[in-house]
Amino acid sequence: MRYKRYGKGGPMVSRLGFGAMRLPLRKRSDLTAVNFRKSVAVIRQSLDAGVNFVDSQHHYHGGHSEEAIGRALKGWKGHRVCIQTKSPFYHFEWPIDHFKRLLHEALEKMHVDAIDYLLFHAMSMDSFKKVGKKFLRFTDWALQRGLIRNRGFSSHDSPENVRKLIDTGEFQVVLLSYNWMSPDMRDTIAHAAGKGMGVSVMNPLGGGLLGADTPPIRRLIPGSKSSAETALRYVLDTPGVTLALSGMNEPEQVAENCRVASRKTPITAAQRKAMRRQLERLEKRADQVCTACGYCLPCPAGVAIPQNFMLLNQAKLLGLVDGARKGFRRLQNDKEGDKSAGACLACGKCLPKCPTHVPIIRQLQETARLLG
Ligand code: SF4
Ligand code: SF4
Repeated sequence: MRYKRYGKGGPMVSRLGFGAMRLPLRKRSDLTAVNFRKSVAVIRQSLDAGVNFVDSQHHYHGGHSEEAIGRALKGWKGHRVCIQTKSPFYHFEWPIDHFKRLLHEALEKMHVDAIDYLLFHAMSMDSFKKVGKKFLRFTDWALQRGLIRNRGFSSHDSPENVRKLIDTGEFQVVLLSYNWMSPDMRDTIAHAAGKGMGVSVMNPLGGGLLGADTPPIRRLIPGSKSSAETALRYVLDTPGVTLALSGMNEPEQVAENCRVASRKTPITAAQRKAMRRQLERLEKRADQVCTACGYCLPCPAGVAIPQNFMLLNQAKLLGLVDGARKGFRRLQNDKEGDKSAGACLACGKCLPKCPTHVPIIRQLQETARLLG
């Protein structure tokens, strides 16, 4: 495993972090039904391979993500593990005491005395203006009591606004969405690192889409053994990136990502240019790409929204049409009922919950047309 300093004066962290938002489930349609046995196994596997950074949010998997981390850390006798978690401060109306309670619960669930990095989850310029001071007061309180060691924010706002949030000078770290298909944050990442901040990256594999093995993508970097390797190397080679967080739930995924993060990842200028050309080709076909975060769920009609979009993008962007059609049929015939795009009632309940503003109804209609 390779390591890099997480911001000026920060600890050395593994270049791959364990993102605990896509843990193995007992029931595919229920994000809160975490399979703790399998979750502990994959987290431990990554720690054994040298990963020393785990990322969560108080409410991932209905609060069970932090619990799974706690179970994996209990009895762990290896290297120290850095914990980053997030506070849902976008709930403007919640009183500060509620956030204090969530923080205490997180400490208990993860069996630690302090959180290394507490982030304002999905901060935007708008939410910073509304409750930024409240978050700073809350984190000052937690810092003074030694309950957290640093504060930061994650964001899906525009690169310009994120840059302004960085320039407030209030935060030690930032978590941004970035991959070779969505490279808009490239300069902002370098800007944050130039200010001495640690930068972690979410969605390095495009919510799993770039992990599907596609020879034309794999071959963009000669020597890459998988599309996931191409995507991860692109992120890790970006100036300013400290580490990439991957939401892992299969032992093979953990092994593959750890292998890539353990090697030097330089990409030549010619290879970057080839990736940019490929991106331009894909952009002509792409709409807003779903990152499979699951925030739009549950759907009252039972539509498995992220799974449908994963299949749509596999077919539309990567050309894996036959596999996508098979996956679509599985969703249609799910034993709990039709989970395919065809079951959407166009009620619109999911739309305001999507942080990346995917036109969900339109894209579901497209999915049903293409794969149904
Ligand atoms: S618009 Fe469709 S996918 Fe979205 S919540 Fe309503 S039924 Fe579900
Ligand atoms: S549609 Fe939006 S909210 Fe739903 S999983 Fe995709 S990115 Fe997340």
